[in-house]
Amino acid sequence: MTTVKEEKLEKLDMKRDTYQLIINGRRVESTSGETFTSYNPATGEAIATIAKASREDAEKAIEAARNAFDKGKWKLFPLNKRARTLNKIASIMRSRFNELVELEILDTGKSLSAAQGQVMQAIEDFEFYAGAIVGHRGSVNNVPGQFHNYTEKEPVGVCAQIIPWNYPLMMAAWKIAPAIAVGCSVVVKPATLTPLTAICLGEICIEAGVPEGVVNIIPGAGSEVGNHLVEHPKVDKVAFTGSTPIGKDIMEKASQSLKRVTLELGGKSPNLVFEDADIEAAVDGSLFGIFYNTGQSCEARSRLYVHESIYDVFMEKFVEKAKKLQLGDPFSKETHIGAIINKGQLEVIDGYVQSAKEDGANILLGGKIAKVEGFEDGFWYEPTIISGVTHDMKAVKEEIFGPVVVVMPFSDEKEAIRLANDSEYGLGSAIWTTSHARATRVAKQIQAGIVMVNCPFSAFPGTPFGGYKQSGFGRELCIETLDLYTETKSVISYFGNRSLNPFGV
Ligand code: NAD
Ligand code: MN
Repeated sequence: MTTVKEEKLEKLDMKRDTYQLIINGRRVESTSGETFTSYNPATGEAIATIAKASREDAEKAIEAARNAFDKGKWKLFPLNKRARTLNKIASIMRSRFNELVELEILDTGKSLSAAQGQVMQAIEDFEFYAGAIVGHRGSVNNVPGQFHNYTEKEPVGVCAQIIPWNYPLMMAAWKIAPAIAVGCSVVVKPATLTPLTAICLGEICIEAGVPEGVVNIIPGAGSEVGNHLVEHPKVDKVAFTGSTPIGKDIMEKASQSLKRVTLELGGKSPNLVFEDADIEAAVDGSLFGIFYNTGQSCEARSRLYVHESIYDVFMEKFVEKAKKLQLGDPFSKETHIGAIINKGQLEVIDGYVQSAKEDGANILLGGKIAKVEGFEDGFWYEPTIISGVTHDMKAVKEEIFGPVVVVMPFSDEKEAIRLANDSEYGLGSAIWTTSHARATRVAKQIQAGIVMVNCPFSAFPGTPFGGYKQSGFGRELCIETLDLYTETKSVISYFGNRSLNPFGV
């Protein structure tokens, strides 16, 4: 067992053949010696062998995190030193930007532009929390009589952080940055399909000076490692991003020890284009809204509603521009649409499209597994636009998590709002209109955690991200997140000069 520092982390290639777990500041093999393989979805090629964490490794990681937290190594660091360490993490990431981008593309098959944006956001997330933590504080409250009350924000403790495969580095940053900013210790479980950049981020945290045991990274099976973290009595909080069914399971199991829980779950976000919209902007933004990250995005605007008076004009442009989207080499600047994560997901996507056809919908574009020259063994799906749908169809109700959008016309604002809200999810939403009054009115009535007005982007460091309804609860990426990794301690003191005798005995 060598410590990460002894291996001179900053000199180790990020792209390499083998990756280990990060436990207690060390790079370690799994207890069982088991490994798994990660693939490049664009080519189908194996890219690396990774130590596969088991229950025993989860146990060790929790122990390390618990020990680091209870000994106060990190939470008692002077605040400015913690902030400086977060900035150091960001600056190492900046210096290794191209390597992180390359690794993210290899592991996920996503396009260069998508990977660049996400790696940059992960970096900015650490910078954001390095600043935010300095201003995060308790309060002084008015109390009648000779009493004084103040509150302190204390780190909640050991946090299990379970993340999905679609934004591997960005999700790891969304989780780790706010948790360690407030002084928590974390055990991160990346998805086994895409573990590489999260492991590298764990190594960077240690290189930047985060004490051993504070950040642990243990890729392994959700049903084994993830489940163990959720059930473990020494874990204080679970922060989960993933599908709604797993989120429900986690909430139930976490209730056994009343863990704090935040859940970022699935979505089926509506995109409303009103008759007074700037049509070009609405077309471009709606394309990005669904096809960004190959539609493998929780906040993908996958239900498109267009006012009937502009429906034909809008759809003609929308389909025409969608035809111009390039699938191909993820490393090419010309590529808009990357690969689908694996064969199973490709089949799920195609299954939804077939179900829409069987339900009588029209395929306006795509609707098939794509053949991409030079990438024949990868997993690709054509950008797909489906019209002639109704709200009882499976493809309209359920999250597809691929490059597939369903489209419907609407006749007035009231109907648009009703359609938008007719979903069990409530994560993102978008409104395209040039009327400020309408934008404000509709934004108020939409049941979603995020409303984008004439805007294709759903998140920046500082903007709250999270859902209503079955899209989960809790907000990430913002100041409020810091509250969700802390407990509020209320301190009440008496300052009168006469001693109190409330029983009067
Ligand atoms: P998933 O729910 O299958 O898995 C997510 C993570 O949970 C993985 O690391 C997995 O190993 C782990 N896991 C699986 N079973 C578990 C169990 N029983 N106990 C504990 N952990 C377990 O989701 P996925 O397929 O990896 O990701 C896609 C889903 O994630 C989509 O539904 C998408 O909408 C959602 N997502 C949401 C957001 C958001 O911020 N709201 C962001 C990205 C993705
Ligand atoms: Mn992979």
